[in-house]
Amino acid sequence: LSDPYAAAVDLGATNLRVALGSRDGHFIEKMAEPTDVFSGNLAISQQIIRMIKSVQKENSLPEEGLCGIGIGSIGPLNPEKGGIDRPANIPQYAFIPLVEPLRSEFAVPVELLNDCAAAVIGEKENGAGIGEENLVYITISSGIGAGVYVDGHLLRGKDGNAHEVGHMVIDFDGKLLCGCGRRGHWEAYCSGRNIPNYARLLIKGWGLDTYRKSLLYNRSSGELSNVAARTVYECAAEGDALCGRLLEEVGRINAMGFANVVDLYDPSLVTIGGSVALNNPSATLEPITAHIQDYVFNRSPRIEITRLGEDIVLCGALVAAFRRATSDPSSQE
Ligand SMILES: [Zn+2]
Repeated sequence: LSDPYAAAVDLGATNLRVALGSRDGHFIEKMAEPTDVFSGNLAISQQIIRMIKSVQKENSLPEEGLCGIGIGSIGPLNPEKGGIDRPANIPQYAFIPLVEPLRSEFAVPVELLNDCAAAVIGEKENGAGIGEENLVYITISSGIGAGVYVDGHLLRGKDGNAHEVGHMVIDFDGKLLCGCGRRGHWEAYCSGRNIPNYARLLIKGWGLDTYRKSLLYNRSSGELSNVAARTVYECAAEGDALCGRLLEEVGRINAMGFANVVDLYDPSLVTIGGSVALNNPSATLEPITAHIQDYVFNRSPRIEITRLGEDIVLCGALVAAFRRATSDPSSQE
């Protein structure tokens, strides 16, 4: 009989990743697809089931070897109902069930976590956080979020959402509107989705002349509405002064957000992931480390880009799946 294995799921609004792995953290195989957000609120759980079965089949894994499933998901979570309540990035569904459809299909325990909570578990068990009791993981991608350990305890909160740091206020003038509908939130300025809004606000304040003379002007076909986050980073890397200045301001807001997080949780380590940070590691990290001292009260921690890359949520979801399988009596069948 082969060793037990577990399924890890990284559920984002854009991409769905599924992996099967062993207790030592080794992935047998990973699989990714665009998240099916168009086929009804049951489609995502059906997609996860199909992907797990496909990886089982391709690797000739016995179905009875599956011992648990761990999910790192976009929020806001509803832990009682075992799913997601009206996600900001998939607003067409009031509720997306995850735990019950998977449990009834596979008859194994299912652990549902916020994606950043899963990620910080991955960092603590398999990454730079090994041996750390106080650590924070921050993702900068289409949104901004965090997973937090304080004194060795993973923070969860009443709904599993104890770390929605992207929605902390960093601009009391509230110049920019967040995807959540409120004003002045960190991710309204610095997430991949919203950097273009902040860039347009800054450029209008600085005067359109600087824009007309910039590389960004060419790359956005002379239209501010065409400015994309990726283009800003690319132009900055090619030496465009305007984009360098834009990223300096993005980094200053990020430094405020990081300072708030450090003052709240007093971590010894902060790691950063998410597509914006992973695609632009030094352009993300350098302004934060340069400016955090302007805002932080607590002693500054070690801050670095996560070495687990885009697998960090899967790493933590796999650990969580095995933990749940071990602790849940219903798994002893
Ligand atoms: Zn918000």
